[in-house]
Amino acid sequence: MISRPSIHSPDGEVAVDERSRRREDDWFLQNEKKLLEDARKAREKREAERRARETQEQRAKLKQVHWMKCPKCGHDLKVEKLEAIEIDRCTFCEGFFVDAGELEALFLKKGAGQRQTFMRRLLGI
Ligand SMILES: [Zn+2]
Repeated sequence: MISRPSIHSPDGEVAVDERSRRREDDWFLQNEKKLLEDARKAREKREAERRARETQEQRAKLKQVHWMKCPKCGHDLKVEKLEAIEIDRCTFCEGFFVDAGELEALFLKKGAGQRQTFMRRLLGI
């Protein structure tokens, strides 16, 4: 795990000026791949732990009840293809869901400008 550089001055006051903000942005750009990789590994570990606690029968029963249903309102989800990933969007509340790892993979491939364009397309703005 990478520790984030502090933006606090020695006396505890937050010193957020333009230079420190730029340094922080640079730090994130330089360490982004490692951060995303750490997040993926942590997610996979959590998933393995959850799977170890459940039986296959329990998983099948839950999947049958909830498959392609919105976790917020319960309406059907519809698959939308957006660039290289598939998004499951609710047909009622328009909330969306992506499979684990899809956004990470996409963000590792794109530059900041392309990510902004992608997010606008995702949000329909
Ligand atoms: Zn919904």
